[in-house]
Amino acid sequence: MEGSPEHRPVHRETRFDADVTRYAARAKGMVASEIRALFSVANRPEVVSLAGGSPNISGLPLDVVGSLLSELVVEHGAVAMQYSPAQGDPRLREQITEVMAEVGIDANPDDVVVTVGSQQALDLVTRIFCDPGDTVVCEAPSYVGALGVFAAYQCDVVHVEMDGEGLVPEHLDNALTTLAAQGRRVKLLYTIPSYHNPMGVSLSLDRRQRVLEICHRHDVLVVEDDPYGLLGFEGEPYRALRADDPARVVYLGSFSKTFAPGFRVGWALAPHAIRDKLVLAQESATLCPPTFSQYAVATYLANHDWKGQIKSFREMYRERRDAMLESLADLMPATTTWTTPRGGFFVWVTLPEGIDAKAMSPRAVTSRVAYVPGTAFYADGFGSQNMRLSYCLPPPDRIREGVRRLAAVVERELEL
Ligand code: PMP
Repeated sequence: MEGSPEHRPVHRETRFDADVTRYAARAKGMVASEIRALFSVANRPEVVSLAGGSPNISGLPLDVVGSLLSELVVEHGAVAMQYSPAQGDPRLREQITEVMAEVGIDANPDDVVVTVGSQQALDLVTRIFCDPGDTVVCEAPSYVGALGVFAAYQCDVVHVEMDGEGLVPEHLDNALTTLAAQGRRVKLLYTIPSYHNPMGVSLSLDRRQRVLEICHRHDVLVVEDDPYGLLGFEGEPYRALRADDPARVVYLGSFSKTFAPGFRVGWALAPHAIRDKLVLAQESATLCPPTFSQYAVATYLANHDWKGQIKSFREMYRERRDAMLESLADLMPATTTWTTPRGGFFVWVTLPEGIDAKAMSPRAVTSRVAYVPGTAFYADGFGSQNMRLSYCLPPPDRIREGVRRLAAVVERELEL
């Protein structure tokens, strides 16, 4: 009889952890990021976490969202809970073009592919362009989740230096020239031009043109990742790279930071031929992006003042950014430096000479403050003197307390 003691499955020792030859070579590149490893300690209530990059969605009117969603189920449940086109819901794709107009892009909804967050858009782009060993150029440092994708597809990542104005065009030009001389074909430049993760800096307008010109000259495809583009604290949003070179740039967008990440809705806007491949790749990956999430986002956009909501997010994040910058200036040892973000979630700190941010991290957690060591954002081990601080989640007084604790840890480190 099923369930009787004689029929219980026998637990045998498996060798799935010991025998690495069972796995595909690409699984080797799949390792837990330093951020993931930090999460369990950083989330303890006594720890001020300046580590996570989760958006603060406490400002969303949950009652409004709730009644929109219940109306959606009652009135449109039969389609909203069904399979749908692999490219994404046509109504949502139309609305996405309105969002992209905010960063100067005049998009055709037919060129939009809806994805499971912009993370999946990057996965699909890499899937269709990169074979193992192909070269991808990224900023130094770069988004940890992108490095994870490139590692999973066994790409070689070449980092190009940044400064306070973003990617340095001369360094990009030199890197592309050197790679060409070595016979290495660069499959793509992955860049986060606005409110960079993790550096917090933005590519200046002048440099945007130069980066496009360099990529045109070297015939390199640009992947522009722009999840924070509408979260600037001053003036108008930056004009997207895609706006000035639609044939060369794949633009990745997301509702994670302007609405909520849990729906997992993002998109890619790509030249036609690339769009076709992305749709096929999406079909094999998921059949279609989640229909219900797409309807939820489309309903929110159609029935709520989403621009007003983004404005209130911007104000909230600006207040937190100010709290962080002020307390860093007040409390950090004089030889510490940091970036001044004009939008987004992150400050990039350079610690005094001789301090290793990774080695210091457990001592910071003991002092009840967490950050992400800079090495997480490099494929090649650099960044040991840096850390990423995020101001998106804790309220201003917790940010001040976190920086106070951190400054004390750095001071002690200097005495070691
Ligand atoms: N790109 C960057 C630069 C990010 O910071 C993030 C989220 N942390 C993503 C992409 C992924 O965002 P999502 O998949 O939620 O759209």
